[in-house]
Amino acid sequence: MNISIAKDAGLCYGVQRALNIAKSTRKKKKGPVYTLGNLVHNPQVIEELKKQGIRSVENLRGLKSGVIITRSHGISPHLYQQLKKRKFEVVDTTCPIVKKIQSLVKSLSQSEEEIIIVGNKNHPETKGLIGYSHQKGHVVENSTQAKTLPHKKKRAVLAQSTQDMDLFKKIVSILLDKTKKLSVYNTICKATLTHQKSTLHLASRVDTLFIVGGKNSSNTNKLYKISKKVLPNTFFIERAEEIVPSMLKGAQNIGISGGASTPPEALQETVEKINSFLQIQHQREKSVQCQS
Ligand code: SF4
Repeated sequence: MNISIAKDAGLCYGVQRALNIAKSTRKKKKGPVYTLGNLVHNPQVIEELKKQGIRSVENLRGLKSGVIITRSHGISPHLYQQLKKRKFEVVDTTCPIVKKIQSLVKSLSQSEEEIIIVGNKNHPETKGLIGYSHQKGHVVENSTQAKTLPHKKKRAVLAQSTQDMDLFKKIVSILLDKTKKLSVYNTICKATLTHQKSTLHLASRVDTLFIVGGKNSSNTNKLYKISKKVLPNTFFIERAEEIVPSMLKGAQNIGISGGASTPPEALQETVEKINSFLQIQHQREKSVQCQS
């Protein structure tokens, strides 16, 4: 029985950087320190940050003062102004790659008729990007939505950094038929692509695969879909405790992968949980052999 972790799995540079900044901010600042949303999709890490005095909040309700740490996804200029207006000290951990996409959207808004962002409309990165578009941005989540768009003389298309490349290509090809002058910007982050390739490669080598990460993590959801397409025995879990023996029935080669916000602890806990089931199974088999 083999257990393999995907070559490129777990925390990306941007999320790791945000975590490091949050921890060093806590050391430097005296008053309350909050993160606007969870920095990573792992309850244990969030609990650990809480113990260190970094509390995750979903909104500003009830907060009076303190340091607000924004996530690697970035925020809209409007939200940034709101934070400043309410006199919070803002520590911006926006990933430099996302910052570049924000600048691109801002500059495109000066010249393009319309900016199409291929992404999830509820994702914080997409919401932030829309905020930079001066009302020219539209989110397209799938091919069906792209097909309903009207013909335009001029538009630009780009992607949320964690978008699935195949979907982006499909939407670009639909827009080509509907736009006289289409400017295409491939803004999918390299880390996203390597995670997707690595998961797909692992899915083709194993018989059972666990995707570990937050159910609300956009890129982890994509890894799940990519793996599930080629390997029906793919399971999406948020934490190791969700693994039950039936998932491992008949498994000989087990793979593990995780999204850009899945910390190494969560991957390691998954390995340990699988190993503990395998040991129980092995002991049961031994005891059956002794009895016979
Ligand atoms: S996936 Fe890429 S763009 Fe997004 S936070 Fe990670 S490194 Fe930055």
